[in-house]
Amino acid sequence: MSASLLEVFLDHAHRAPERPLLTFEQERFTYGQFATHVTAFARGLKQRGLQPGERVALFLENSARFAITYLGVQAAGGVVVLVNTAYRQVELAHILSDAEVCGCVTGAAGAAELVPLRAQLPSLQWLITVERPTTALPESLTEVPFDTLLAEGTSATAPLVMPRPEDLAVLGYTSGTTGRSKGAMLLHRNLLANVRAVTEAWRWTEQDRLLLTLPLFHTHGLMVGLHGTLFTGASADLRRRFNAAESLTALRDDASLTMFFGVPTMYSRLLEEARASRVKPRALRLWVSGSAPLSPQLFADIEAELGARILERYGMTETIMNTTNPYEGERRSGTVGFPYPGQEARVVDVRTRQPQPCGETGEIEVRGPHVFAGYWRRQDATAESFDADGWFRTGDLGDVDADGYLRITGRARELIISGGFNVYPREVEEVLAMHPGVAEVAVLGLPDADLGEQVVAVVVPHPGATPPESQSLVDWCKDRLASFKKPRQVVFTDALPRNALGKVQKHLLRAALVPPGTR
Ligand code: ATP
Ligand code: MG
Repeated sequence: MSASLLEVFLDHAHRAPERPLLTFEQERFTYGQFATHVTAFARGLKQRGLQPGERVALFLENSARFAITYLGVQAAGGVVVLVNTAYRQVELAHILSDAEVCGCVTGAAGAAELVPLRAQLPSLQWLITVERPTTALPESLTEVPFDTLLAEGTSATAPLVMPRPEDLAVLGYTSGTTGRSKGAMLLHRNLLANVRAVTEAWRWTEQDRLLLTLPLFHTHGLMVGLHGTLFTGASADLRRRFNAAESLTALRDDASLTMFFGVPTMYSRLLEEARASRVKPRALRLWVSGSAPLSPQLFADIEAELGARILERYGMTETIMNTTNPYEGERRSGTVGFPYPGQEARVVDVRTRQPQPCGETGEIEVRGPHVFAGYWRRQDATAESFDADGWFRTGDLGDVDADGYLRITGRARELIISGGFNVYPREVEEVLAMHPGVAEVAVLGLPDADLGEQVVAVVVPHPGATPPESQSLVDWCKDRLASFKKPRQVVFTDALPRNALGKVQKHLLRAALVPPGTR
């Protein structure tokens, strides 16, 4: 049995070198060609002195080179550090210094962000550049163009390092939605257990072809999209970034595509584009949504107008994937389904940590071979995140219905306790989102001398409608929810702060609304 995903990929390349793997813009790669590049890259890195276990950051947009580098670092015995391309100096300095990277693979824009951080990153020795930097690099930083490294590696003979199951493969930094991002240590065996489970659950085969427009620096695109492709011997049409019009055209014209994965924002843009352009996608075998809640309305509209019944999944950096709606059987809107084969999930009371009966809200916990090995150099955070018997506390709240479908109701940290009552922001958000004057909404708890916390709604009014009055929104909630859940304050804004995956960053809203010193 293979010990790593890398080994599975090299095995496909050995047995079926002519099989198509990846297209990206003008580039086309078979498994054999790709393996040649990965091997050369790994040998080049080893020749330049990369030691087993050393960290290499990928600060790169989607490209074939991203995938070559990703596998190449692993084949040289290194650990990949994934960095969101939207990150700028503060986030970059945090991640690269926390991971103590010795190298970084990046483009011209990335190099320009990194140069001013030189003094804060003493461990950084070299940059592998996929484009010539436009900023002068300090002398202490060695630049190796990507093509040079490949050429060096092609003539090198250093043996590849075949990872062992317990070796660290990736440091995945969490999105930082609830605070400073942490490095989740994913071992080779975690990657393999996950990809086995997801490909089995979704009946992924070598006949499949995925339109891959999600960012590769994030779990959903990389560890579901790319990993699943490599594991099954399938192929992918990789795009630099998501574009609704281009995706829709590809989904209409390319009969070889069988799957599309997206986050809810991508689905709503696809729908808008389809409405405007009247372009309809072909029927695909599988449409997947994850990373953020898919509203029942969007699920229904996509089904009615695009003929696609989306399969919603639930995952996170630390575990890659937790649950999925069934491939066969009912995909229940508003839920994230069941654990994957070989994995467990349960809901526990936040105080007693005892399993909750069906229908009762509590914290979601998961256990299984997919669960990461802990947070990098954060023993405190690791210890807080695991129960004694190995259950990982996801920090998400949810409940399980009578048929066993898991529903996510919010984040434990965002639970509002107002006057002693629990208020789940998502419930109030769903009610406000149904108001015709509301385009977007985020609900959070702010300190309150009397209630402990008060419910506050931050609302983006619908551009086409008459802006709603605060009081009418409060009344709208009062008519539909228990009175203690209604917002005490409604704040209007033009846009909600979102990260690259479209998640609302409530800690930024909180920081903007709470006067300093009272937080
Ligand atoms: P941080 O841990 O730094 O605060 P984060 O949790 O947003 O950031 P990720 O690991 O990228 O970082 O995201 C995982 C989270 O995304 C999950 O814990 C869950 O809250 C949310 N999520 C993922 N899939 C879904 C889904 N289908 N429905 C609702 N929420 C989801
Ligand atoms: Mg998290």
